[in-house]
Amino acid sequence: MSSRRNFLQKLTLSAVSIPFIPGFETKSMNVMNQKPDQSTLLRVAIMGLGSYGTRVAEAMVDSKKAKLVGLISGTPSKITAWQAKYNIPEKNCYNYENFDAIKDNPDIDAVYIITPNALHHPQTLRVAAAGKHVICEKPMALNAREGREMVEACKNAGVKLLVGYRMHFEGNTLEVIRMREAGAFGEVKFFQGLSGFKIGDPTQWRLNKELAGGGAMMDIGIYSVNGARYMVGEEPEWVTAQETKTDPVKFKEGVDETIMFQFGFPSGVVASCLSTYSMSNLDRFFLNGTEGYAEMQPSTGYGPIKGKTHKGPLDKPHITHQTVQMDRMAEIILEGDTAQVPVDGEEGLKDLIIIDTIYKAVKTGKKERIKLG
Ligand code: NDP
Repeated sequence: MSSRRNFLQKLTLSAVSIPFIPGFETKSMNVMNQKPDQSTLLRVAIMGLGSYGTRVAEAMVDSKKAKLVGLISGTPSKITAWQAKYNIPEKNCYNYENFDAIKDNPDIDAVYIITPNALHHPQTLRVAAAGKHVICEKPMALNAREGREMVEACKNAGVKLLVGYRMHFEGNTLEVIRMREAGAFGEVKFFQGLSGFKIGDPTQWRLNKELAGGGAMMDIGIYSVNGARYMVGEEPEWVTAQETKTDPVKFKEGVDETIMFQFGFPSGVVASCLSTYSMSNLDRFFLNGTEGYAEMQPSTGYGPIKGKTHKGPLDKPHITHQTVQMDRMAEIILEGDTAQVPVDGEEGLKDLIIIDTIYKAVKTGKKERIKLG
């Protein structure tokens, strides 16, 4: 299915520049360029028209199963510009005060929340109360308590809650998981996850404890937390963690600059990870077993994801992550499909429980048990 999608996507992209392909009539190309019947499309409103929201909206244009149909924003000028760009009717545009009225809008199925981390919890509760499915960006919330409330609220409202874990649909990532499951690495023994970048503007919300809920760990370290779980294929049962801070002015109390953390898994696998806001382009996963290895660098960026195993290079084709994600999330929400690596609220909650425990281990300096149950 993914290779067909890839073919269609490539065809769609090249259709602009290629005037004639033997064997393809204009009519069939037009059909391929169109989205299917509205009734089978996931009709999405994006909340938070910022940098990542912009990326998701652009990627959704190529989705065969999801369509941007609504906007929720605190910035009227952005709404006007996006309305023109994506042909969004006025009746599908909201601000943060009035978006509860989305409950009376039959033309929107789901809201994709792409706002600062602290807003994910209250906004999810409101979207769920309005009876719409929620796709929420990572980290799903500031802590496990909030995460649990979100899972509960969506369950009670009878709507789905998905988290924007785009790597769970990425080709090379799924190939490494497939190889591991087939025993290609033998018994897995070790995972290393390194996630970081050099953060700029000290006034941005990512460095504000109230809005971010922490520092690098909430934003980028979560990729190594989540990656350790899907690369190893088990849930960690203990963690140790150490924090270092070289710039206490930029990284204030409660905003972590660099945290090293180690996991132990039930089978005896160990993991060693690093989360930082002070190193450039740190994006590497390494998995080792008794019979072989996989290394990926970059491992979680926007791609192409590159890497190799002891058997050779990872060579699955790159497809814009957010396009594949929206196609698959539409299948999950509308068709009841399941993701090979889950993207539901429970999955987001597990990462929050683990991150809470990492912060606890930093404070206590002890090996802390992770209670996912
Ligand atoms: P931006 O700052 O670029 O955008 C956030 C948007 O949220 C703003 O533009 C604004 O949109 C809205 N907003 C509402 N209230 C506030 C507020 N108090 N302060 C600032 N913005 C506010 O952030 P990103 O788009 O980079 O990140 C948003 C979320 O997406 C985060 O949770 C982040 O972790 C996640 N993310 C996920 C990625 C992934 O690969 N999965 C990659 C990057 C980010 P408006 O003006 O329309 O109201």
